[in-house]
Amino acid sequence: MSNSVRWRGAYACVVAACSAVCGLDTALSRDEPALRVLPLVVHIAEGEAGPVADAEFVRERIAFANRIFAPYHLAFALVGCRRIGAVHARLESRADRDALARYREREVIDWFVVASLRDVDDRTQLRRGVHWRSRRDRSAHYVITSTLGKAGVFAHELAHYLGNPEHSQSAGNLLSYTWTEALPVLDSAQLERLERALRDYVARGELRRVDAQTDAALNEQLARCEATPAGQPRRP
Ligand SMILES: [Zn+2]
Repeated sequence: MSNSVRWRGAYACVVAACSAVCGLDTALSRDEPALRVLPLVVHIAEGEAGPVADAEFVRERIAFANRIFAPYHLAFALVGCRRIGAVHARLESRADRDALARYREREVIDWFVVASLRDVDDRTQLRRGVHWRSRRDRSAHYVITSTLGKAGVFAHELAHYLGNPEHSQSAGNLLSYTWTEALPVLDSAQLERLERALRDYVARGELRRVDAQTDAALNEQLARCEATPAGQPRRP
């Protein structure tokens, strides 16, 4: 065993003993970055037989995103749940995606759930999700997911929303198309971009921070969603 290895071992023991005796754990946890909670409003399109997604669909995606972003001290809270007309259930064109901008709300991440989402570059394909920036108003951007996508698609699109437009080639990365059995992760460059985007969004008044959400509060929002009639544009 080299001296340095022995030293590291001794140091670890001292830290372990001290954390028990001197309350070091408490001191360290005080330095932990605080959880940042970002507000979400979900807009669910009407289908032929009611909304295209139910409360469980929304709950599952938020819960999975919260697990994935927890190591980065980020969480998402549902602060509103709306229904939008059946005309938005199947998005075929760029104009269809742009048309959602009118429903945006202030200082939140808007998330639209639709029945299908055509790839606008390759019309033979359907997409499972997209982070879309309106062509008419570049400051208007939002997440769209199709009901065809699994829960992880929403978290992937949130990572795009939060300052990371590019994909990763690294298996297991949240922005890769290849995931492993483990929870997908962000790398340090992606995290830097995320932090920068978050600072910018908050500074520009585009996004506010809210308190962490209890399960009861989430359920309340989801119950309200089911009771909300088909929406009118809130921001003409
Ligand atoms: Zn992507």
